[in-house]
Amino acid sequence: MYRMIFLGAPGAGKGTQAQLFAEFAKIAHISTGAMLREAVEKGTALGQQVKPIIEFGALVPDSMMVDLIAERITQGDCSNGYILDGFPRTVAQAEALATMLGKRQESITHAVMFDVTEDDVLQRLAGRRGHESRADDSAEVQKERLRIYQEKTAPLIDYYKNKGQLTCVKGDAGVEIVQGRLREAVSK
Ligand code: AMP
Repeated sequence: MYRMIFLGAPGAGKGTQAQLFAEFAKIAHISTGAMLREAVEKGTALGQQVKPIIEFGALVPDSMMVDLIAERITQGDCSNGYILDGFPRTVAQAEALATMLGKRQESITHAVMFDVTEDDVLQRLAGRRGHESRADDSAEVQKERLRIYQEKTAPLIDYYKNKGQLTCVKGDAGVEIVQGRLREAVSK
């Protein structure tokens, strides 16, 4: 049973890797970014609240994200396991997740960190601009998301390392090669 978290800078390839691994392992792929973008598109109350935050490249408040995930992981498709892609993004979210799972006598099985150089990240983000038609993929917003990642999300690497849950995967190769490294790393 896999209950995984995927960590990595924007552009590190974690979304693509999560999608492939979820198909392979027959587990749910939960992308909080995709959930939020869908809410924005549908114009729900949540969507209206988060739209300006996403467009600015900032983080949605922890309490909203924790509520969203708490509800999502109880859905039927998560009973065989899941990948959280884009959550947690702060230490407070990570602690809330641990508490939430602890109440069910569960814990995450792997926090997978996709390791890429800053040059690679910048190159991939530049390549993505315009292709994924995301309003938050302009150069300025990408830069802000990278800054926020360093400040708020990168500390999770040590957080999960200290818990003995961190698995590092080198992300400096093509999609299939990185996927192979991931499968090998989490099968041990
Ligand atoms: P992503 O697709 O994961 O890059 O997420 C796109 C945007 O959604 C981020 O830049 C944030 O504004 C927001 N978002 C996604 N996940 C979270 C989270 N766990 N905490 C706060 N904001 C989030």
